[in-house]
Amino acid sequence: MTAKENILASGIAAADARAVRCRSCGGSDLTLEGVIPDARLFAGRQLAAPLAGGSLYRCRDCSFLFRYPIYSQATYDKLYREGGSETWDETDRIDHQLVRAMLLDHLDKGSVIDVGCGSGRLLMPLASRYATYGIEINEQAARIAQDRQVRVIAKDIGQIPLLERVFNAVVCCDVIEHLPDPLKFTRALLSAAASGGLVVISTANADAWSWRLVGSRFWYCYLPEHISFVSPDWFKRNAQALGVQVLAVKEYVYSPHFSVLGKALRLVLMALFRMSPVLYYKLLPKSRQRNIPVGRGITRDHFVIALRKL
Ligand SMILES: [Zn+2]
Repeated sequence: MTAKENILASGIAAADARAVRCRSCGGSDLTLEGVIPDARLFAGRQLAAPLAGGSLYRCRDCSFLFRYPIYSQATYDKLYREGGSETWDETDRIDHQLVRAMLLDHLDKGSVIDVGCGSGRLLMPLASRYATYGIEINEQAARIAQDRQVRVIAKDIGQIPLLERVFNAVVCCDVIEHLPDPLKFTRALLSAAASGGLVVISTANADAWSWRLVGSRFWYCYLPEHISFVSPDWFKRNAQALGVQVLAVKEYVYSPHFSVLGKALRLVLMALFRMSPVLYYKLLPKSRQRNIPVGRGITRDHFVIALRKL
């Protein structure tokens, strides 16, 4: 990142909220939810210097929750290129199971494309039922996807408008939170769907009670690659403008799995991080102090939504 960007981002605590505009609807009726802690990791990789967290804003007009300011696209592109994330071949993902269930509920047959398909694990179990396609930037992952009967036809989400065909369903897990403009991205996904087709999206729920409880110190927005946060409510408010009908919403707990007691203890730690990150880190062993704050796997803070293109 440039020095100017860093100064811009770290100076946000003192910035005037009236100068900020909602990145989704352009509105200016915003609430400042707090300062996001700076973080020394990006897409699973530890960094030499921290990235400025900026602040978390919620739009009263469209319910969009977002990090501001964000870095330039060139900076994010560079950080992703340098990233060592190995998350493209995770097994037993609950979101994949829920997306498959939604597809089976609403689509008898036809073609499905997974935008950001990784190694093809999401669609692999459905390859005998649907014609399965993918978009994936990681070449190693894309090769494995091909072996799993998921035909990778593009590398980058920027290529969606160039696809020469449309699909009966477009699915996209854990991508929308990485992009600056969720409305523009949802429109791009819809452009790849046939009329009457489905778009199925999964991400964290900006309306989750646990997120509202701890605000800008919630684990999900701590991750610097997460910049835009939507909710079922955001999709419902934008349904008419997008030309979609909301077919189904399913809220879920993101992995890992903990016992009830394990969740309760982590919830207490989560509240502690909200009150005092300094105290929170004092209680943790040194080896865990660079991890993301506790919160993952505790509450139903994620959702899958199925949209029908009208
Ligand atoms: Zn807005």
